[in-house]
Amino acid sequence: MNSATNSPWTKLREKCGVVGVWGNHEAANLAYLGLHALQHRGQESAGIAASDAGGAGQAIHLRRGMGLVADVFSPKALGRLPGRIAIGHTRYSTAGDSGIGNAQPLMVECNKGRLAIAHNGNLTNATAIRGRLEAQGSIFQTTSDTEVILHLIAQSRATSFDGALEEALNQVEGAYSLLLLTPDSLYAIRDPLGFRPLAQGKLAEGGAFFASETCAFDLIGARFEHEVAAGTWVKVSGESRAPAITTHRFAAERPLRQCAFEHVYFARPDSLVFERSVQQSREQMGRILAQEAPADADIVVPVPDSGVAAALGYSAESGLRCRFGLIRNHYVGRTFIEPTQQIRDFGVKLKLNPVRRLLEGQRVVLVDDSIVRGTTSRKIVNMIREAGATEVHVRISCPPTISPCYYGVDTPSKSELIAANQTQEQIRLSIGADSLGYLSLAGLGRAVENCNDSFCMACYTGKYPTPV
Ligand code: SF4
Repeated sequence: MNSATNSPWTKLREKCGVVGVWGNHEAANLAYLGLHALQHRGQESAGIAASDAGGAGQAIHLRRGMGLVADVFSPKALGRLPGRIAIGHTRYSTAGDSGIGNAQPLMVECNKGRLAIAHNGNLTNATAIRGRLEAQGSIFQTTSDTEVILHLIAQSRATSFDGALEEALNQVEGAYSLLLLTPDSLYAIRDPLGFRPLAQGKLAEGGAFFASETCAFDLIGARFEHEVAAGTWVKVSGESRAPAITTHRFAAERPLRQCAFEHVYFARPDSLVFERSVQQSREQMGRILAQEAPADADIVVPVPDSGVAAALGYSAESGLRCRFGLIRNHYVGRTFIEPTQQIRDFGVKLKLNPVRRLLEGQRVVLVDDSIVRGTTSRKIVNMIREAGATEVHVRISCPPTISPCYYGVDTPSKSELIAANQTQEQIRLSIGADSLGYLSLAGLGRAVENCNDSFCMACYTGKYPTPV
């Protein structure tokens, strides 16, 4: 269990964000800006690898560090990352220890040359592959699942780099959106089921750009084109002004299993994820939730930030006014002082504060994106009551979370998930709400326009699309 999992505020966290730039002399600076836009996807460590192939160095340079993007990169550090190609990564660990050794991009010098890799997702057979490789004499530098991909590439007897990459990818299972850097090429790769997003587009001055979410495109003025297709890689090489961009299918086409939770919680609402607006999905979740679980109340209050769009949808559908009765402090880092005896619910109070004037005497519909262990929800309900609300009706913009995720989301084990162990009525009593309602599975499907059954919803159903 990592330190953030111990935080009283911790809910569900996503593993990572990745960004790739090809064909710009400020590649590292653009990657740095892209990582800023993806900071919400991981705050534990950040890194950029840049290649100056064609320049004096002909090498890949790497900078990684613990902490936020702005803490890891000074102008001086960015100045040491020359070149026209760069990949970046911001991490929240779900597999492997939290520590600088596991910060990404990972870089190795192997028989295929120097490589750097940035991974979003989680490999489900990494332990088995690692055991096999170690038995054959491989020595691993990290505890990250990502490193097995590099070992498999190095071990391959294929005669070309692309052949070795294809061989490696066909051995790993699970979720991976990868950016892979060689001294003169950039590969953007998405697993056959497409669990994690990976958007592709163009830089304003030419050249290619990739990122986990399109909010990174907006920041640097890149144009979004489409998602990298599942089971394929996009390879960019050649000249800056006239890049050779080729797409290669390395795995047979299969039904997609895109992560529904990206739309429920992870992604920023200003992003397109899986080529659909996250804001639109969340508003729809709220609208359908209002139809499925109406409440006799006065106002709708979102739990910021991820509950805001769903609360707006609930408000629009129900006709109840949406009031921002909880204010989030965006500037809280980790604190080492926790006066548990003196201040009740300290961890949540650090992050959220109620607006008494809006809540006093009101019957409140409180809209949030999930209940995981139930402890945070209990504290928020209590906070709303103490601020003067006469009733608190909790509405959750997704179905009950009953199973852990094996594809890159840091969910607790089944024994810790309250919905896996208690009935809805027991959960209501446990969090102290006057009523509790969840969005149905069918409702979530409609909200993300899942008419093609193309989403993974395993954390709500327990039915995993791969062996786990
Ligand atoms: S199990 Fe849940 S969180 Fe994990 S990929 Fe599937 S939908 Fe996303």
